[in-house]
This record gives sequence, structure tokens and C-alpha cells, in this order.
Amino acid sequence: MSSNRGVVYVEPGKVEVRSIPFPGMVDPTGRKANHAVILKVISTNICGSDQHMVRGRTTAPQGLVLGHEITGEVIEVGSDVITLEKGDVVSVPFNVACGRCPMCKTQNTGVCLSVNPGRPGGAYGYVDMGGWIGGQAEYVLVPFADFNLLKFPDRDRAMEKIRDLTCLSDILPTGYHGAVTAGVRPGASVYIAGAGPVGMAAAASSRLLGAAVTIVGDVNPKRLEHARAVGFETVDLSLDTPLSEQIAAIVGEPTVDCAVDCVGFEARGHGHSGSQHEAPATVLNSLMEVTRVAGKIGIPGLYVTDDPGGVDKAAQLGSLSVRLGLGWAKSHSFFTGQTPVMKYNRDLMNAILWNRIDVAKAVNVQVISLEDSPRGYTEFDAGAPKKFVIDPHGVLSKAV
Ligand code: NAD
Ligand code: ZN
Ligand code: ZN
Repeated sequence: MSSNRGVVYVEPGKVEVRSIPFPGMVDPTGRKANHAVILKVISTNICGSDQHMVRGRTTAPQGLVLGHEITGEVIEVGSDVITLEKGDVVSVPFNVACGRCPMCKTQNTGVCLSVNPGRPGGAYGYVDMGGWIGGQAEYVLVPFADFNLLKFPDRDRAMEKIRDLTCLSDILPTGYHGAVTAGVRPGASVYIAGAGPVGMAAAASSRLLGAAVTIVGDVNPKRLEHARAVGFETVDLSLDTPLSEQIAAIVGEPTVDCAVDCVGFEARGHGHSGSQHEAPATVLNSLMEVTRVAGKIGIPGLYVTDDPGGVDKAAQLGSLSVRLGLGWAKSHSFFTGQTPVMKYNRDLMNAILWNRIDVAKAVNVQVISLEDSPRGYTEFDAGAPKKFVIDPHGVLSKAV
């Protein structure tokens, strides 16, 4: 049997690269998974969603193998798989989905009913998401492979664009989903809260969708500097000037057509002193304030049902002081939940391959080795304006 190594959550603030079992053709309940393939991982990214777990802000168990953003090469094919073969290079949607249940049949793969005994929706290497082993590793099992995997049409072309294509497993479809659900269209004015990788992918998506102006907001000056360097307008929420005034200074009025929350429940408050503290409802409330009447608000930013580190008892159960009355009065629509990656990933792959979107540049991809992943976690946690992409077999560093 081959060996395997992966990134393991040890305790709050600590991950380690450890030996882990080579994947077997079985699901987390031990049932034979002839519908699966085993991938040699080509690239696997660190995500803000991983950071919630590693900061101890979820009920993730110690010893969890992390990693839900995976691109790889098929090296072993289950006997029921009919559309894939050894050597195929594929993108893995972070949602684990069966392809057979009513939700999968309606493209709601983020809430598949069959892959997680605890609740609808599965993911690799994630708390409460069905126990599927994470892919920040050398090898990983992908179940229901015919349904889940997106095969790249040409291996050489894929490897040329691998820094962009690695974003297809999560952040690009997630940013795009945020923009689409916020109603971004040609000529729209857009505000995106959060200049992390998801926010920057949403900004790049907003540009792809034809927005007239895309404004990105954060409390982290380095991330805002990067957002400006790749061509977006910015607002600084650590300043005492209110968001609506900063928006008015750019677009001439205090509201935008569309807004996207790419922050989630670990949001900071606004203003010089506010931004020193966590205030989990800040982004949701501020988006209702600055979105025009009858506007839509995309909310890919993550909100949890249990948060041991929440600011108060209510927040620890995911109950936030959201001013829904304001959104109701303004006839707002809200769109939440795990992104159904498969709905978008093929179109976005083609947008990358035909040079319609420079997502690697927008999110500032930085390739690191598997051994270096603890450093990647630490730097990302400190707010580096980068998307860390782990290269477990040294393939990316050779590719480009
Ligand atoms: P990240 O932590 O790198 O980025 C979040 C950014 O928000 C940080 O730069 C932070 O400084 C900023 N921020 C904090 N408070 C703010 C405020 N009040 N206004 C504006 N910005 C503020 O994370 P990421 O990788 O970019 O992910 C963003 C969110 O998207 C996370 O919550 C992640 O879990 C979530 N996510 C959801 C899905 C999905 O399927 N819905 C998929 C991927 C990621
Ligand atoms: Zn992710
Ligand atoms: Zn399903």
C-alpha cells in the first residue's frame, strides 16, 4: 500500500503535516464505494473556511484531515465509474454530492441529502460535513466521481492555467455565486464586503458579469492595497467615515445596486475602535443599509449553528442581532448557503481557458509545498493578501 501525508488540525491555532492512511475505496461509514476514484492531488488550497476551524471557532474535532479545495489526477478508478480514466486531470467541487437525490437533481449540490447522516450537505475535510477525508494531502478519495468531477479537456493547457483552475473547486464559483445571486449584471454598481480570496473572486466575477463599478471593502489595509492594484475601487472600514459616505464618494450616491457578503460570522465592527473587535452582524446590517430598495444581497460568507468562541451566548448558537426590519422595509432578497459549485464550474473553467478572467492574479495565488502548509495557515490567518495553494507533489512549481 502507498503512503500518504496530509494537513491535520491539532488544536486551536495549530495544524501539522502527518502521515495519514492512503485512501481506500470506502465511504466514511465503511461502505464499499465503487462509484469513487482516487486522486493524486495536484493542488489544494487553504480557505477562509478552514481558518474558522483552525481558530477553534467551530466544533471541529482534533485530528481532522483538512482540505476541501482539490484539483488532481485520477490514479485509481472504481468499478462503477464510466466517464473517467487514469490520467484524467480534474477539478473537485468542494461539495460532496451523490447525483441521485432530489437536491442533486435540481443542482442544489450544496445540500445533497445522501452524503451526510447529520444534516444535508457534505464536504471534504470539514466539521459536520459527513466525515469525508480532506484533500490537503498527497492522495484523496472522491466519491460519486462521474457526477462530482469536472474533467479538464486538455492536460497541457490545464497545467498552463493551473493557478487559475485551482480556484474552480471553491472560491471562484463561490465568488461568482455571490455576484450572480446579488443580481450583478452589465452596468451594475456592486459592493463586496471582504477583500479575502472569496471577496476578490467575487470582484473578478462581478467584472466578468459586466458590472460598471466594483467596490471592495475590508478593515485590512494590505488587502485593500492589493484590491486597488488589480483594478478595483476600495473602501476602508477601519476609518470612522461611514460605509455609505465612502460609497457616495465613489458612485455619487450612498447606495449600490448589488451587495455581496464575503466575510461571514467572524466580521469585525466598523470604524477605528469598532474594527478592533468582532461584531458578527456588522456586514449583514451594513449591506441592508447600502443596498438600494428591491436589491439583492448574496451571502457566501459563512454563518454557523455552533460557535464556541462567539462574542455572546446568542452568537455561540449562531443567533445574531440582524436588523431584518430594515431589509424587509427595503424589499431585499437574501441568498445564503454552501455554493453549489457544479452549477458554475464548467462555464468558469472555459472563461479561464479562454482568458476571460484572471482569477489567480485577482486573489494573488501563492504556491507552497505540503511541508510549508502550517506557515501558509499562519500567514493567511494574519491577513496576508494571498491565496495559498499547496503543491503536494511539486507539480505546480514545475508547471509554470
Ligand atoms: P478571509 O478570512 O480570508 O477573508 C475575510 C475578510 O473579511 C478578511 O480580509 C477580513 O479582514 C474581512 N473583514 C472582517 N470584517 C469585515 C467587515 N466588517 N467588512 C469588510 N470586511 C471585513 O476568508 P475567505 O477565504 O475570503 O472567505 C470569506 C468567507 O467566505 C468565509 O466566511 C468563508 O468561510 C466563506 N466561504 C463560503 C463558501 C460557501 O460555499 N458559501 C465557500 C468558501 C468560503
Ligand atoms: Zn473553501
Ligand atoms: Zn444528492
